[in-house]
Amino acid sequence: MKIIDLLNQNKPSLSFEVFPPKNETSFESVKTATEEIAKLHPAFMSVTYGAGGGTSQYTLDIAKNIKSLYGVPTLAHLTCVSSTRDTVKQKINEIKSADIQNIMALRGDIPDSLKDSDRTTWDYKYAIDLIYELKSANQNFCIGAACYPEIHPESATQKDDIKRLKEKVDAGVDFLTTQMFFDNNLLYNFLYKIREAGITLPVIPGVMPITNANQVERSIKLSGSFMPQRFKSLVDKFGYNPDAMKQAGIAYATDQIIDLYANGITNVHVYSMNKPDVAAKIQDNLSDIIKK
Ligand code: FAD
Repeated sequence: MKIIDLLNQNKPSLSFEVFPPKNETSFESVKTATEEIAKLHPAFMSVTYGAGGGTSQYTLDIAKNIKSLYGVPTLAHLTCVSSTRDTVKQKINEIKSADIQNIMALRGDIPDSLKDSDRTTWDYKYAIDLIYELKSANQNFCIGAACYPEIHPESATQKDDIKRLKEKVDAGVDFLTTQMFFDNNLLYNFLYKIREAGITLPVIPGVMPITNANQVERSIKLSGSFMPQRFKSLVDKFGYNPDAMKQAGIAYATDQIIDLYANGITNVHVYSMNKPDVAAKIQDNLSDIIKK
């Protein structure tokens, strides 16, 4: 199923992101965790692509497994900046052969090894180059792209960021998924601005349940997200107690999601961090709201 068709149904739904194993040793445990999440039958699941593409085969293996065993629609992530055109074309063919209809087209972070090199020699500089590649492959994929309610760290201003986002959308994107955020007002403000800039396609908010205190620093570093005082207080109070922190983090994410639905968002994507118990608890908290 194409994600855009699901979004057009206009019913509150939940989807989960998982990440592939980093090596062969962790393959089985990751496979089991992602299967446990697939058993919840979310609206769809996305499988991220290892930075640099070194573990790219696992993305497809995990996505294929979820789809064939549980029939959950899958979204395969693909990054381009550290790949050659031949490699990307091969990946696109593999995704097509696996009958996966949805691709998240990303640039990826620029690896240190490339930072000082001559950009004119890169096959792909931005996500938009990958979107053109997918369009020219003419395989009728449903294409997603990333967006940043708190602006991408490399952008000088939000205006610049939204201008680039509009170009990316106009190149042929079907939907956008956001970077994580912990204050819904930032998302509503962003949506207002992009709509004003003529970006009208569906936007899927990405919500990250923070379930242990160590995750806080890592997540902020990775995303640059603003931490509201309400969330900081919760970490201060419960961060030392793993069970309490987990419960509080799930409650915070649930609250964020309910507010998003109440304000007209249809699908919310949960960064599940391969934790089936967290995914199940959030889904359970929303059971009557997302009833099929
Ligand atoms: P782009 O859209 O290319 O934007 C990157 C920067 O360049 C922005 O500042 C943009 O404004 C600017 N820009 C764009 N076009 C131009 C242009 N023509 N000229 C000048 N500037 C321009 N990373 C992974 O490695 N694997 C994953 O699976 C993954 N999944 C993600 C999922 C989501 C929902 C999100 C939000 C991010 C994900 N990332 C993933 C991280 C992502 O790869 C990084 O944030 C990366 O730095 C930017 O990727 P992008 O596709 O947004 O890039």
